Amino acid sequence: MTLLRHFINGTWQESATGRVREIRSPHDQHVVTTATEGDAADALQAIVAARASFDGGAFRSWSWQDRQALLRRVADLIERDLNIYAAAESGDTAKRLIEAEYDIADVISVFRFNATISEPGHSVDVGRSEISSRIAYEPVGVCALIGPWNYPLLQISWKVAPALLAGCSFIVKPSELSPSTAVLLMHTLVEAGVPAGVANLILGAGSEVGAPLTTDPRIDLVSFTGGLQTGKHIMASAAATVKKVALELGGKNPNIIFADADLDAAIDNAVTAGFLHSGQVCSAGTRLLVEASIHDQVVSELTRRAGLITLGGPDDATAETGPLISEGHLNKVLGYMSRAISEGAQVLIGGKRASGIGLEQGWYFEPTVLDRCTTTMSCVQDESFGPIITVESFTSESEAIRLGNDTIYGLSGAVWSSDAAKCDRVAAALRHGTIWINDYGPYRPEAEWGGFKASGVGRELGGSGLHEYLEAKHLWRNTSPGRSGWFRDGGHSSE
Ligand code: NAP
Repeated sequence: MTLLRHFINGTWQESATGRVREIRSPHDQHVVTTATEGDAADALQAIVAARASFDGGAFRSWSWQDRQALLRRVADLIERDLNIYAAAESGDTAKRLIEAEYDIADVISVFRFNATISEPGHSVDVGRSEISSRIAYEPVGVCALIGPWNYPLLQISWKVAPALLAGCSFIVKPSELSPSTAVLLMHTLVEAGVPAGVANLILGAGSEVGAPLTTDPRIDLVSFTGGLQTGKHIMASAAATVKKVALELGGKNPNIIFADADLDAAIDNAVTAGFLHSGQVCSAGTRLLVEASIHDQVVSELTRRAGLITLGGPDDATAETGPLISEGHLNKVLGYMSRAISEGAQVLIGGKRASGIGLEQGWYFEPTVLDRCTTTMSCVQDESFGPIITVESFTSESEAIRLGNDTIYGLSGAVWSSDAAKCDRVAAALRHGTIWINDYGPYRPEAEWGGFKASGVGRELGGSGLHEYLEAKHLWRNTSPGRSGWFRDGGHSSE
């Protein structure tokens, strides 16, 4: 088994301490791979390399078209190696191979989409023929790109693709739990022609390598996807050197079903929204808001459907979803459940670690439906990041909106109704970054993704996702220079 290593200034390196970390399958604890375990000294080396490559200017002086072509090559190479990538992603996370294949296909789309974005820049008409006023966009500089474990390569690709297109240099820091595909990506970037020092990779725990990446003055931007508490910490760390920050944080996403909705479609999508990837999805539809008149019907069918879900490992052809990522995460979800019960939530199904043949060694949690929930309960307010749907009832459109916005988060939500005008009103009133109407979950690389309120700062994907990696520069050129004439010149004449 090859040791996964840091990639710094074009070379593969082990941590100076010699420490390693075993990556174990969340399904059965077998050792999937072993990674070098970095510390602050390793991160500093990567920062020095990225800074030198950026300040050297070689990559950012490539033409925009050459960097677009680079992204197309990256996409083609990942497509060629899709099976290798998917197996690695599935290995680290124990998500089903088919889900990992979908994820890698999405990664390819992200690179392909970014390759289509034209170089931004425009002129400003100031009404004077001797003046040219132009806005140019330059790379923001050296970026720390920190990703989570739930969609390891996809979340990193949302950062790497625009960073490359912009001409930045960067250091990727994947989750310590799921480093394999980030390592593969570095191989791909080299093969595609990314110069040494532009793309660097640091492996290890965020608690150790995170500090230099978020405090060092040589880092210009920190783009982070992960939990709220880590995001707050990173924002505070970055403030000392006034770094730019882009934060994609958690969500507590309302899925609102009105009585006039297509209930078959709404309930089926509610099951997917809550239980896909065992709820380890930032946009998971974990808060079901149901109009009171259909509450019993919806909840009974939702509970029946939750009970049918088959859990299993990545190679189990019958499995519909897999385990939680780690023992620590399972314990977090168990703690969330205990609080929910003590606060009065009614467990209709699930609520505990899953048992069953083949699941004994894994971090499995039963698909769970909690009824009689209210916004004062922590289960409604806190992200569980597990397969748990809370159910609340409402009796009017305004109450649905009020409940849907009664959260510190603002990542995504959905509204189900056959009344198009009502859907539009509710969608407009919900303060979340993505609203699905009579649907749940799709996203596109062309469309901005990100959060209102505590779900984040900035946007990924779309044109805005690129702009996180650019600085606007105003260039003012006077082709007929003259004196400003503002202050008295005391009779001096330059003639
Ligand atoms: P996390 O614990 O916050 O970790 C995210 C990343 O930050 C990991 O690479 C982690 O490294 C690193 N990190 C931890 N402490 C750090 C520090 N002090 N300085 C710098 N980096 C540090 O989140 P997670 O559990 O991996 O991911 C789940 C969360 O991500 C959920 O809240 C989910 O909603 C959110 N998420 C949001 C989106 C979105 O688009 N908004 C998408 C996906 C996930 P280690 O793993 O080594 O600790």
